[in-house]
Amino acid sequence: MRIEAVSAFRDNYIWTIRPSKQTDGQTNGCIVVDPGDAEPVLAWLQKNECQLNAILITHHHWDHTNGIDELVAKYACPVYGPVSDKIPAITHPVKGGDELTLLGGALQLNVIECPGHTLDHIAYINAQYMFVGDTLFAAGCGRMFEGEAEQFYQSLQKLTAQPADCQVYCAHEYTAANLAFAAAVEPDNLAIQERQAQVAALRQQNLPTIPSELAVEFATNPFLRCHLPSVTAAAEKRAGQRLNSAAEVFAVIRAWKDNY
Ligand SMILES: [Zn+2]
Repeated sequence: MRIEAVSAFRDNYIWTIRPSKQTDGQTNGCIVVDPGDAEPVLAWLQKNECQLNAILITHHHWDHTNGIDELVAKYACPVYGPVSDKIPAITHPVKGGDELTLLGGALQLNVIECPGHTLDHIAYINAQYMFVGDTLFAAGCGRMFEGEAEQFYQSLQKLTAQPADCQVYCAHEYTAANLAFAAAVEPDNLAIQERQAQVAALRQQNLPTIPSELAVEFATNPFLRCHLPSVTAAAEKRAGQRLNSAAEVFAVIRAWKDNY
């Protein structure tokens, strides 16, 4: 697959997915994930001579959904998304365990329910790539608007039970700020420092820092490291008390990040 970012708003990425090669006679089919704005997507489709085959939605927030109506008006394509009365444009509601076959069979994605950022949040996953919306970010995770810490923590466990080379496609360019916080939690973690340098170099050229590899997230993302002594110690210091589970550590560093 060819997966490209379309930038929207200040720091959103709308992901486009299409086969790496079009065989003769095929339409140039393409999928978009979380089109919060139709305009940049329409421009991208035109420039790349692609037809929109389907829209995938991860959760109900406006910056992931506001472009749906205009795109459907032009392409009349199916809209997959969570079972949610907050997203009336969804034509194909999906739930955890569902398997989607897209792009004429070229792409298979599994649906995983991952509440935490919102209660309706889902992700689209296979062994090679995952489209995780605002649940897992590069070096961070989404704000906990609707869910609870234990639930969010379990959602992250589900998402990260993929091969270590699986590529994580999240919906925002937050990596540099996330790494600054990660370094505050683990000042001695050299992998975080190395990643900060790589990310700074990419951002200087205005390049996306997404996707990232799951293995890199395990090494540098504090929200995936809550079971480790270094992150636990930092969270206990912050909380001023002993914490008895990785989910409790997660709750403390999630709240810490909100005020960082
Ligand atoms: Zn969101």
